[in-house]
Amino acid sequence: ARSIVDKDELTASNKSEMSVRSVGTPLERHDSRHDASDRWPRQNSLSMKEWDIPYDELKLFEVIGTGRFGTVYRGSWHGAVAVKLLHVNALSDHTAPLDTFKHEVATFRKTRHENLVLFMGACMKPPRLAIVTSLCKGMTLYTHIHLRKDKFTANKSVIVAQQISQGMGYLHARGIVHKDLKTKNIFLENGKVVITDFGLFSVTKLCFGNNARGDSLGIPPGWLCYLAPELHRALRPIASLHLPFSKATDVYAFGTVWYELLCGEYPFKGQPPEAVIWQVGKGVKQSLNNMQASRDIKDILMLCWAYRSSERPDFPHLLSTLEKLPRKRLARSPSHPVHLSRSADS
Ligand code: ADP
Ligand code: MG
Repeated sequence: ARSIVDKDELTASNKSEMSVRSVGTPLERHDSRHDASDRWPRQNSLSMKEWDIPYDELKLFEVIGTGRFGTVYRGSWHGAVAVKLLHVNALSDHTAPLDTFKHEVATFRKTRHENLVLFMGACMKPPRLAIVTSLCKGMTLYTHIHLRKDKFTANKSVIVAQQISQGMGYLHARGIVHKDLKTKNIFLENGKVVITDFGLFSVTKLCFGNNARGDSLGIPPGWLCYLAPELHRALRPIASLHLPFSKATDVYAFGTVWYELLCGEYPFKGQPPEAVIWQVGKGVKQSLNNMQASRDIKDILMLCWAYRSSERPDFPHLLSTLEKLPRKRLARSPSHPVHLSRSADS
């Protein structure tokens, strides 16, 4: 997918006679005092410019929250927006990661789907790096499930899972791997699923680690249970930047979201990261013995959590499986499943 994007951009830029303002270029990197367009004319595509939002045009209001890569503000840019300001590490050389980031940003504009957050643009002039998206109005699935302890009936879980599969299937068809699918990145707006933060994981390379919030291994709480075995096996201290993410690892993460919807908690709940890494890397899965759900529902979980990535279904397949779930049996299964403990798991 990446190479297709590169080619797209290249073709566009070669044809474009427009010179561009502050879009990053190899030259600009070395000397940001000069306007890049002086010395690097016609090299950047018009298409790239469209997504380069001048930082000064953004109005920032209050902080909504802080995540691993940056701080999210409620903002205004031709209407209400969410602005994710990345915590850029000023001391590092950003050359390679910034290029990667720009290519990825160029792919986001290709996303037009009901179940994906609207990508509006980005500020890509270091040290000001920001992602601007539409402002999600509802709450995240994480807030529903883990903070408010809202119960999702099996039927509602299926509807939510179908919408996630639809959005993810679209994303994958566009060649974008999410890399950070989790309930914190899925909003529910009046029953409609909106997925956020797709493809942003690589910006960690530009950012300060937010280790203060994690544990000794620099692992943010609640992250590990989304990682497929092959990612667990690749985990090294500080090396999480080079994990071999793929469409199949997104499917694994979807399995975990499916589990959270059904059980109201994370898999491997309460276990230390070292134990989770060891188990998942060896192919041990969260037991489903205590889970009161139909065979079909558990089968989906087992398929998504398959040890070998090649055995995991893709999203179109998941979607048709979800659509085929017998409604009658769904109706008979308990409206919320067992052992929903009240412990807060941030
Ligand atoms: P995380 O996803 O790990 O919670 P983020 O940095 O992505 O960390 O988000 C920080 C906070 O901003 C979270 O509370 C998140 O729900 C909120 N947020 C992120 N994107 C949006 C958006 N597009 N609209 C509204 N709130 C958002
Ligand atoms: Mg997020």
